[in-house]
Amino acid sequence: MNKHEFMEYVQFLGKAFDFTPPTDKNLLAAWYKPFENINLIIAKKMAELYLYNEPGKFQLAKLLKYKNQAMRGLTDKEEKPDCTICGGCGWARIEVYDINYPRPIEVCRRCTCSAGERLNNKYKQLSREDIEDNFLDWDKVFRPKIPFLKEEVN
Ligand SMILES: [Zn+2]
Repeated sequence: MNKHEFMEYVQFLGKAFDFTPPTDKNLLAAWYKPFENINLIIAKKMAELYLYNEPGKFQLAKLLKYKNQAMRGLTDKEEKPDCTICGGCGWARIEVYDINYPRPIEVCRRCTCSAGERLNNKYKQLSREDIEDNFLDWDKVFRPKIPFLKEEVN
């Protein structure tokens, strides 16, 4: 980011973390140095991660620790597949009948797209039967096809 963007960013940090930003020129220059090569979008993401993860008084050193995580988060987003089943999050939702419950329950399965492939394979993956025996409703949940409803429509 350039110096102008940095000055706005510092003001933003001050508001977000409730402190008075430094006004001393040398101090500001020292603060700017690590941000010189950081994109403003990444820097805002860093602030967001810091805000969610660190309680207490604002420390620049702590904020800088979130640089890698912020950059990783943005790349993940770019790689999100355009999947009609899971919307790119990797989790497909399916309604199943369980003998222990009076009503059908919703469970998650790993999607068959690349986002689902990235999830831990200890989780059950969406099977061909899950897809063929069900229909994907407006809320993107696979629900059992109910025969009498189909007959009514036809
Ligand atoms: Zn998917």
